[in-house]
Amino acid sequence: VERTLSIIKPDATKRNLTGKINAKFEDAGLRIVAQKRIHLTKAQAGVFYAVHAERPFYDELCEFMASEPVVVQVLEGEGAIAKNREVMGATNPADAAPGTIRAEFAESVGENSVHGSDAPETAAVEIAYFFSGLEMV
Ligand code: ATP
Ligand code: MG
Repeated sequence: VERTLSIIKPDATKRNLTGKINAKFEDAGLRIVAQKRIHLTKAQAGVFYAVHAERPFYDELCEFMASEPVVVQVLEGEGAIAKNREVMGATNPADAAPGTIRAEFAESVGENSVHGSDAPETAAVEIAYFFSGLEMV
């Protein structure tokens, strides 16, 4: 069974939306097998989003991710990576399907409430960045 790394981003934790977002995951059949609230430094956010280092929004993205606490979590289920991205909706909330997390909660393309891994390889790296095997039950 597959696992993926999810982050509830600062715009959502600030608005006290953690429970509503977790309900969307659980309603979709995803199980939260690890979860913690942390406050990333800008440098830690930069390492996490290193793949976007050359993009024009990189600095803004790292500032945002370090602006308030985030909730990092591991979601488990059949096809968890694709299922999570389906529940999240498109990156830009204007394009996100009705009922998705980003359609309901995201404020902008940058402040879009959630992150989800995009492939098995990135999921493995991203999970290992935040959690040890013992923390996932
Ligand atoms: P994530 O990786 O956070 O799950 P995603 O895979 O849908 O989101 P990516 O293309 O990987 O989108 O972009 C990573 C993050 O960078 C986005 O979620 C968003 O917060 C930010 N971002 C992407 N495009 C823009 C943009 N044009 N302007 C500002 N921020 C952006
Ligand atoms: Mg991405």
